[in-house]
Amino acid sequence: MNPFLFVRVDDVASAVGEATRGDGTRFIGGGTNLLDLMKAGVERPVRLVDVNGLPLHEVAEHDGGLRIGALVTNADVAAHPLVELRYPLLAEAILAGASPQLRNMATTGGNLLQRTRCYYFYDVATPCNKRDPGAGCSAIDGFNRNHAILGTSEHCIATHPSDMCVALAALEAVVQVEGPSGARSIPLAEFHRLPGDSPQIDSNLGPGELITAVELPAKGFPDHHAYVKARDRHSYAFALASAAAALEIDGGRIAEARLALGGVAHKPWRVAEAEALLRGQQPDDDAFRRAAEAALTGAAGFGHNTFKIELARRVIVRALRRAAGIGRSS
Ligand SMILES: Cc1cc2nc3c(=O)[nH]c(=O)nc-3n(C[C@H](O)[C@H](O)[C@H](O)COP(=O)(O)OP(=O)(O)OC[C@H]3O[C@@H](n4cnc5c(N)ncnc54)[C@H](O)[C@@H]3O)c2cc1C
Ligand code: SF4
Repeated sequence: MNPFLFVRVDDVASAVGEATRGDGTRFIGGGTNLLDLMKAGVERPVRLVDVNGLPLHEVAEHDGGLRIGALVTNADVAAHPLVELRYPLLAEAILAGASPQLRNMATTGGNLLQRTRCYYFYDVATPCNKRDPGAGCSAIDGFNRNHAILGTSEHCIATHPSDMCVALAALEAVVQVEGPSGARSIPLAEFHRLPGDSPQIDSNLGPGELITAVELPAKGFPDHHAYVKARDRHSYAFALASAAAALEIDGGRIAEARLALGGVAHKPWRVAEAEALLRGQQPDDDAFRRAAEAALTGAAGFGHNTFKIELARRVIVRALRRAAGIGRSS
């Protein structure tokens, strides 16, 4: 590991001030991703700004919804009574990820910015455009079993690995940030990026910007929701494909539908057309299969990961069935 300066801050303005001192500065929350990347030589910060002393550890009601401080751990979000009661989809997605020990350390802000699990990204001996822009992508013609089937570019086919963010996408969360130019709000749908020709940039966070909170709108879909995650092991593994489904059912018909996918793209994947196809329909397999087809429009594999197209289709149908309360099989 390279030498670095370690700075502790106890107010947001100081954190932002520290971050504007240069490109080599990184915030550190739980450290569960950043430290691994530093050990692998992928990240080489010259200054680490420890944000754990900031007053961002609270979950509180806000504007009819919920405000989750950036430093609330994944374990505490999942176990919070208001999350369990009003946003159980979020709790379910968080609990499908990592391990209890990791969830005790991982923070809300850090989870949003965790980096891809593409193995070539972590292996500094291989070319990777995300790590070293212009070097090439080892995954496109390499072993790409975990990689994306939607929204890829010729420069990168990595996936975003977070489970929490898939639920946040379905719930239309908004990320609150504080930066050198003040505070701003970024809807989750606009927070993460597709790789395009700049795969080294994962999010639309500006230089020096600190995540302070994630806000959830009032609508939490507590009655009809499901997070389904397909992975190589039953636990402690990242998603090959996952789906967060949330439905509002009124008079036997779907009044409102949300569907977001994980493990298939560089960002949580949401397709408005798929949700529109569900609205007004009876919650049955025909409607769910049509929505799955729409959600996967344009999906294309790279060989080892082509199976993900069918896998994602089944995961979507299963999530919608579970959300509708009509069984666990697909
Ligand atoms: C073995 C293993 C298995 C895992 N399995 C899963 C899984 O199945 N599903 C899943 O979703 N996740 C999984 N994770 C990932 C884990 O959830 C993330 O590592 C964690 O959420 C990151 O949070 P952190 O607070 O530790 O972030 P850190 O490592 O501290 O930081 C991550 C990034 O966020 C930045 N950052 C942190 N806080 C802020 C802030 N407030 N504002 C701006 N930038 C900030 C840092 O600079 C860094 O770039 C796994 C991790 C490991 C090690
Ligand atoms: S998929 Fe992206 S992260 Fe993986 S090797 Fe290619 S450029 Fe790097």
